[in-house]
Amino acid sequence: MLRITDLRLPLRHAEDALRPAILERLGIIDAALKGFSVFKRSYDARKKTAIVLIYTLDCELADEAAVFARLAGDPHIRPTPDTNYRLVAQAPADWPHERRPLVVGFGPCGLFAALILAQMGLRPIVLERGKEVRQRTKDTWGLWRQGVLDPESNVQFGEGGAGTFSDGKLWSQISDPRHLTRKVLAEFVKAGAPEEILFVSKPHIGTFRLVSMIEKMRADIEALGGEIRFRQHVSDVLIEGREGSRHVRGVVLASGEQLRADHVVLALGHSARDTFTMLHERGVFMEAKPFSIGYRIEHPQSLIDAARFGSNAGHPILGAADYKLVHHASNGRSVYSFCMCPGGTVVAATSEPERVVTNGMSQYSRNERNANAGIVVGIGPQDYRQDGRSDGPVSPLDGMAFQRLWESRAYVMGGGGYQAPGQLVGDFIKGQHSSAFGNVLPSYKPGVHLTDLHEPDAAGRASLPAYALAAIREALPAFERQIKGFSLPDAVLTGVETRTSSPLRITRGRNLQSLNVAGLYPAGEGAGYAGGIMSAAVDGIEVAEALGADLLGRAVAT
Ligand code: FAD
Repeated sequence: MLRITDLRLPLRHAEDALRPAILERLGIIDAALKGFSVFKRSYDARKKTAIVLIYTLDCELADEAAVFARLAGDPHIRPTPDTNYRLVAQAPADWPHERRPLVVGFGPCGLFAALILAQMGLRPIVLERGKEVRQRTKDTWGLWRQGVLDPESNVQFGEGGAGTFSDGKLWSQISDPRHLTRKVLAEFVKAGAPEEILFVSKPHIGTFRLVSMIEKMRADIEALGGEIRFRQHVSDVLIEGREGSRHVRGVVLASGEQLRADHVVLALGHSARDTFTMLHERGVFMEAKPFSIGYRIEHPQSLIDAARFGSNAGHPILGAADYKLVHHASNGRSVYSFCMCPGGTVVAATSEPERVVTNGMSQYSRNERNANAGIVVGIGPQDYRQDGRSDGPVSPLDGMAFQRLWESRAYVMGGGGYQAPGQLVGDFIKGQHSSAFGNVLPSYKPGVHLTDLHEPDAAGRASLPAYALAAIREALPAFERQIKGFSLPDAVLTGVETRTSSPLRITRGRNLQSLNVAGLYPAGEGAGYAGGIMSAAVDGIEVAEALGADLLGRAVAT
């Protein structure tokens, strides 16, 4: 097979225009092209009036060798790589019960770790603190509709993890020499995702489909001998040995039940604060890491579509427009858009009582009125250290304490009942209190309480630290230069967005095990090794491979 990259055609090209374009590009006659398929399709919308589709195509030719020889040196003509996934090891059919690995957490990372372990024949046991996805959906709606939070079953916790109520964006910028992202997409399609996710450049699934896909993948794992146990909150880890030779020997559940295992994957997500504290107390090595804080912004989706696509807005191939923005503020802070959800809604994403956290989600159709995105400021351990020093190591738990502080403040500023504090962009830039919505009605439920996000409490604390407020105030008009209308006075800011990534890293070595506890595999977003559904899933695969190879005595190619 031969792969052509960067073949460009106008947005409104005829359906049958690809074949002649390939013939021309390769300089061959029609009979020499036996068949072709689209591997990827993206677009270049920098010129709104001349939007271009960019194709990567796999072609079957009558005489490949001749074409390769003639076009040698052309960087856009290459052999099609083999993207098929192969298991690194296979367990014997009678794999003993006592050697089954444990996977803690059933988000994208735990899901793919468990799936690969199951495909290797290792019959993993998954322990998930939250509930099955259908029950979890009801609990999550309970917060959004009635203001009732279940701290064990919500947007962060339960089957499918944090990605279940999301936009289901499936792209990632991770380097992927082994084509593991293809394995993830292929498994999702097998579980019911639309086939187009295999070839569009920015695939997304949306919330409703994710729910049924996760159930299907759970059934696949179970059919391979794996077990998924819900409402199983891991509250402790069993570790044996002295410093320098410590090994995990199992976990303890909140019910008091102990499960013995010499291999444990920790796929906890970034909100497992109690579990992070427990692991820290048990001496598992971890360190503070940077993350970001800010607000969600909402605009009419039609404004974003017009700014990005002009008269081509509404074209079915383009769909609802997204954006990606960065501004380097004069106070040295970087402000950027995070987890942009075209045609979606802002969601209440807390997992802790009396705290408010925002995030965004959408359905596959992305046809809600508003576009939303996090507008966040990067911060580092020196910004959130709690001991007041300016040097030396920061406690790994400090970032969590910092997040809690602003989430609690948002709860108070929202007026209680999990309402979020909000402000119109025009008022935010001028530093004045908002009292009525304009043309943009915010989508966050249970509701947005208009206020001044700069308003200090008795301790002088606004809704975010002063440097973050200043950087965002500067960034919004600067973003206007990239997206016309971005600083629309009626656009709404809702806060706070604090759970952009894990505030700590549970550091691991080259064997993907904890630096100081053998057999423990910190993985995914909570461990600081992923950010988003795709990278968490890929990390789950890599950790499962490392674990499988260790158990079965094989080497893994990385
Ligand atoms: P998680 O998905 O967080 O899963 C961790 C699991 O571990 C949870 O189910 C939790 O209940 C369980 N757990 C934690 N502690 C314990 C314990 N002690 N015992 C047992 N179980 C435990 N990313 C994208 O790429 N695209 C998007 O469109 C997108 N939208 C998002 C929208 C929202 C509203 C949110 C909240 C996140 C979104 N993300 C998105 C981020 C994405 O969901 C995460 O990056 C991803 O889910 C991380 O996967 P993970 O498996 O590492 O952790």
